[in-house]
Amino acid sequence: MTDHLSRRSFLLASAAAAVVRLPESQVLADASASPKRPIIISSANGLRATAKAAEMIGGGADTLDAVVAGVNIVEADPTDHSVGYGGLPNENGVVELDSCVMHGPTHNAGAVGALRNIMHASQVAKLVMERTDHVFIVGQGALDFARAHGHKEVEMLTEDARRIWLRWKETHSDRDDWLSPVKATSDNKHSDAMDEVAFTYGTIHCSAVDAKGDISGVTTTSGLSYKIPGRVGDSPIIGAGCYVDNEVGSAGSTGRGEAVIKNCGAFAVVELMRHGASPADACLEVVGRIAEHTRDPRLLDDQKRPRFDVKMYALSRDGRFGAASIWSGGRFAIYADGRNRLENAKYLFKRS
Ligand code: ASP
Repeated sequence: MTDHLSRRSFLLASAAAAVVRLPESQVLADASASPKRPIIISSANGLRATAKAAEMIGGGADTLDAVVAGVNIVEADPTDHSVGYGGLPNENGVVELDSCVMHGPTHNAGAVGALRNIMHASQVAKLVMERTDHVFIVGQGALDFARAHGHKEVEMLTEDARRIWLRWKETHSDRDDWLSPVKATSDNKHSDAMDEVAFTYGTIHCSAVDAKGDISGVTTTSGLSYKIPGRVGDSPIIGAGCYVDNEVGSAGSTGRGEAVIKNCGAFAVVELMRHGASPADACLEVVGRIAEHTRDPRLLDDQKRPRFDVKMYALSRDGRFGAASIWSGGRFAIYADGRNRLENAKYLFKRS
């Protein structure tokens, strides 16, 4: 029996008992008792975001203002190559950002896709929500909209990110005219250098619930590195990269966006919570669905498991939280009971 099948039988059996149950070894951060709110959850690169959001919510801020201010810190950080300034660019060396926000109390949402030259995509997504009758603006339209609201254009490609991109450009194929410095003088142009530079994913998601039970979420990213210009991932898609239902909870994702989109990741997590699953179990169920729905052999290892990873993060209105990834080793940032820290995510498959 494959890992897929055994996991499937396990989940089906558990579903009969209404709530998915996990082996003891995986019972980590799935708080069954509700911690004291506010609770703020984020991807592992979001410890500063959760701290900032906690501080703002403590001062009376709306949850959406708080999570956006939190992720703004990471958007402006040139050392995080997966988000905002310093993010890795598309295949042409241009940074393109995706972001969405969702505000539980109003059930309103905003998003931008393939946004160039703007530092804070999440702020522009929030403006789309607040200052238009639309939900999603992309490309040149998103840039024009951001400029209309006073956002200044900046070069988002840092020197560091440019060097990483150039290395990819020079090594990803031996059938073009781009030569790496080492190989430029060699007869056998690129061969050894190939495969050294892989496509990389990375994003920040952050969700918060305050003492009243009001919830908001935001996801912001530079997306898949070296993507085809105009490619939009899951991060700005409401229901994929982020979803909030103020009566239930919030969820968000990082990792291979194409897989999350095809499984309506964040929406599915919130719906599972609505029907009784805990946040971590809902996340685990959804990464399991993603694994099972991955049929393209190109994306599977010799045991038919996805070669890629996806992480889902969730919190419930009553303050429970959790996260799960396809592969072990995932962590997430959590502010709960007045403490800000990283915790381990549940997982489907153990990395060897
Ligand atoms: N989900 C993002 C995307 O596909 C990237 C990531 O989170 O790693 O664009």
